[in-house]
Amino acid sequence: MREWNLPWEGGCRCGQVRLKISAPPLLTMACHCTGCQRMTASAFSLSAAIPSEGFAVIQGEPVIGGLHGASRHYFCPHCKSWMFTRPEGIDFFVNLRPTMLDDPSWFTPFIETWTSEKLPWAATPAVHSFEKLPAFDEYAGLTKAYAEQADGPAR
Ligand SMILES: [Zn+2]
Ligand SMILES: [Zn+2]
Repeated sequence: MREWNLPWEGGCRCGQVRLKISAPPLLTMACHCTGCQRMTASAFSLSAAIPSEGFAVIQGEPVIGGLHGASRHYFCPHCKSWMFTRPEGIDFFVNLRPTMLDDPSWFTPFIETWTSEKLPWAATPAVHSFEKLPAFDEYAGLTKAYAEQADGPAR
């Protein structure tokens, strides 16, 4: 049986902003889009969709960065780490960058998106791959499958 060992804490590279997570992720993802490649300075971004009631900033004041658009990308004001995203038009979860966690070792992406834009060598262990994004009505099935298969940190 899955054991998430919540709560988790995490923070940015410099430590000014600290986070506390008290609910398990609904879904985990890697995104290969060129926007994520630029914002991460890497091949893809990683996300854990955390229910909003289980997500808290406990120290520091993240600032908006990235596109400054309808989806709000939050960064540390000092070290500029990309910490989390509040997606456009969605209030019930926050997309945490799991590498902010003090222990991200449990994380694997369950789905990967925008493989149409991925670097040729980039590969992840995601169970489901999408050339762009899943259709809106596919998310319910994906979160159900994730809840049945996912594993949290080992005790
Ligand atoms: Zn920082
Ligand atoms: Zn992306």
